[in-house]
Amino acid sequence: MTDAARGFSSRAIHVGQEPDPTTGSVVTPIYQTSTYKQDGIGGLRGGYEYSRSANPTRTALETLIADLEGGSRGYAFSSGLAGQDCVVRALLRPGDHVLIPTDAYGGTFRMFDKVAKPWGIDYDIVPIADADAVRAAVRPTTRMIWVETPTNPLLGIADITALGGIAHSAGAVLVVDNTFASPYLQQPISLGADVVTHSSTKYAGGHSDVVGGLVVVREGLTIEVPDGDPVGPDAATRVGFHQNSIGSIAGPMDAWLVQRGLKTLAVRMERHCDNAEKVVDFLTAHHGVSHVYYPGLPDHPNHDIAARQMTRFGGMVSFRVRAGEDVAVKVCGETQLWTLAESLGGVESLIEHPARMTHASVAGTELEVPSDLVRLSVGIEDADDLIADLGQALDRLA
Ligand SMILES: *Cc1c(COP(=O)(O)O)cnc(C)c1O
Repeated sequence: MTDAARGFSSRAIHVGQEPDPTTGSVVTPIYQTSTYKQDGIGGLRGGYEYSRSANPTRTALETLIADLEGGSRGYAFSSGLAGQDCVVRALLRPGDHVLIPTDAYGGTFRMFDKVAKPWGIDYDIVPIADADAVRAAVRPTTRMIWVETPTNPLLGIADITALGGIAHSAGAVLVVDNTFASPYLQQPISLGADVVTHSSTKYAGGHSDVVGGLVVVREGLTIEVPDGDPVGPDAATRVGFHQNSIGSIAGPMDAWLVQRGLKTLAVRMERHCDNAEKVVDFLTAHHGVSHVYYPGLPDHPNHDIAARQMTRFGGMVSFRVRAGEDVAVKVCGETQLWTLAESLGGVESLIEHPARMTHASVAGTELEVPSDLVRLSVGIEDADDLIADLGQALDRLA
């Protein structure tokens, strides 16, 4: 049986992870080395010469994520934003225009607004759940459509196939930040995306013990480059060239932690989804909650699209507190099992107030989020305990 014919979990546990040829070590070693002995000048053992350019532990992770996302090449970075920055630099140049979502991750918005824009890359903010609005915002210079689906923190859903069509007819690439869904629930390249990014800090790592980023480029993606460009049109080569030239790589220990996380992604995501569905049922019935955001709810505006492109609906849930901002803030401070913290995607459940925490930097912009909103990263503890803890806080305060 070839790797390609195997299921997700078999590949997650085996691709890029052949037992170590020297010792038979079943687990990929952490090659904590910066350099490699050469057998005579230029005689590289296995192609390794210096660990910014390549390191076997990182190669194992890069091989694995390319396979799980169905792309040609994968790249591992020191953070999600480092990977995103590399994609922007590798595939865009000053004068280009980008479309970004109304509820993008705050750090993504800051990168486009404060880093890429001064470099000469203009952007417009569009409601990416509305394909017609995206089509209308395309300009002759648009070279990239940046999408998150589901979005953070409002769990909006974009139609990846429709947006791929819009991007390709405009001569642009579709980049999907797949952090919230993870490759277990959604594989954007198979739906028409060109590039996938991850904050592996979240579900890919899964244990809140590492900061990292992943980028996967689809087979055969090329972009237009001016005559004399030093790297050429092949998009995967460009990302690899920029990764090495800029240097924001994942170190071997971090690459190893993310690889270990991916081995259990399937079982973790099933449990995240099971627990999230139970929490959603509880919140939907609670008098103190005015609205629940979850793509699995039949009344979610793009539930049908989510059902088509995701296998399940994920572990992120947001809700609005009927009594308003002050009570929403208090609820976040009154849970015991749910930890008040930023980030998401780990085994432990987290609660936060986006307007004052993760999304404080977008206050006053088009990306502003409701002040009575609470965001949950539903972990894999016992669902009854999670519901009881939320319940005691909501019953008393809301
Ligand atoms: C956290 C996050 C990022 C940024 O990743 P870092 O690892 O924190 O740099 C990007 N996109 C989404 C959706 C995220 O949740």
